[in-house]
Amino acid sequence: MAGFPIQYAERIRTLPPYLFAAIDDMKRKAIEGGMDIINLGIGDPDLPTPEPIIETLRQAAGNPKHHQYPSYDGMLSFRTAVAQWYQRRFAVTADPKTEVLTLIGSKEGIGHVPLAFIDKGDVVLVPSPGYPVYPVGVSFAGGISHEMPLTKDNGFLPDLDAIPKDIAKKAKLMFLNSPNNPTSVVASKEYFKKVVDFAKEHHIIVCHDAAYSEIYYDGKRPCSFLEAEGAIDVGVEFHSLSKTFNMTGWRIGFAVGCQDVIAGLGKVKTNIDSGVFQAIQEAGITALALDDSVTNDLRGIYQERRDVLVAGLKKLGLSLETPEAAFYVWIEVPKGFTSASFTAHLIEKAGIVTTPGNGFGDPGEGYIRMTVTTTKERLAEAVDRMQKIGW
Ligand SMILES: *Cc1c(COP(=O)(O)O)cnc(C)c1O
Repeated sequence: MAGFPIQYAERIRTLPPYLFAAIDDMKRKAIEGGMDIINLGIGDPDLPTPEPIIETLRQAAGNPKHHQYPSYDGMLSFRTAVAQWYQRRFAVTADPKTEVLTLIGSKEGIGHVPLAFIDKGDVVLVPSPGYPVYPVGVSFAGGISHEMPLTKDNGFLPDLDAIPKDIAKKAKLMFLNSPNNPTSVVASKEYFKKVVDFAKEHHIIVCHDAAYSEIYYDGKRPCSFLEAEGAIDVGVEFHSLSKTFNMTGWRIGFAVGCQDVIAGLGKVKTNIDSGVFQAIQEAGITALALDDSVTNDLRGIYQERRDVLVAGLKKLGLSLETPEAAFYVWIEVPKGFTSASFTAHLIEKAGIVTTPGNGFGDPGEGYIRMTVTTTKERLAEAVDRMQKIGW
């Protein structure tokens, strides 16, 4: 206990209730009851970081020049590796000096970017259901989120025409995310071109989250927002080594795009953090230069798992699309259930932890999210258990 009444700031007092606390509670009860838990709730790769990346860190950790503060924008050599990777992967040209910024994971950049551009009362367009960091970052900056609902009817892509004209006029920034968490839907280059036109017309900064661009199936490579003509004039893309190279614990990501947006985010960061451990940036250079065979192997593993889970769920009569990317399966709950009640049913009766769709925003009600970050044997077991419990 504090020695006097501690008052929380409005920005954290007004955070939406932590929906997942209820799930943690149910999970704990299931474990106490001796249930063997299959956790399909977490979006965190279960596989280890590829060895060459770890070896670079081992070597670099011993170099005293890395023991001091890193440069604020990130090592130029890391930013150059990012630019080369963008060229190789997307045929997008970016100047490593002015159009690339190193981040302490992309979540850090996404959470901080509103501080650079949003004043009290400013409107930001956010996809919903979506990564909770978008609306929270907006709210911390004093801004107001306007939800762009992702629904079956609009193919789970924001319907730009449905955004009221006065909102579009007022909006200063838009978050987008493809391949998407939680729906796994992938936007096309044509869609991104429409976003660029919309952003130009209404003077909206686009912040595209591409954390899952390298987790794709059937050889169908998702495109970068920056591949759309004119995109680099209106926005930035957030990227991460986390999902691509199983490096969620390492905390390294980057932003690429419009120089003025990169500069604004850089200014915020210079004032509140001191960058990424340079030995980790060295390891990041190794990761970005790795042969595609490494990521192909990882994709192969996820694809096998996806196939086991999706085929199993469809056989049970559940309604879902086969994901083309990311490691999420977005499933409609059976008739008579809500997101919360189906989540509870699966934990309590079968020991399967999933995430209720409404936890990502109201339009996610009626869905649950499952992940393929566990072995195919466990996924098959989950399907078996679901068949046994029924609904
Ligand atoms: C995992 C994830 C990220 C990446 O987070 P890092 O901070 O780079 O580890 C970004 N956006 C979404 C939607 C994610 O699911």
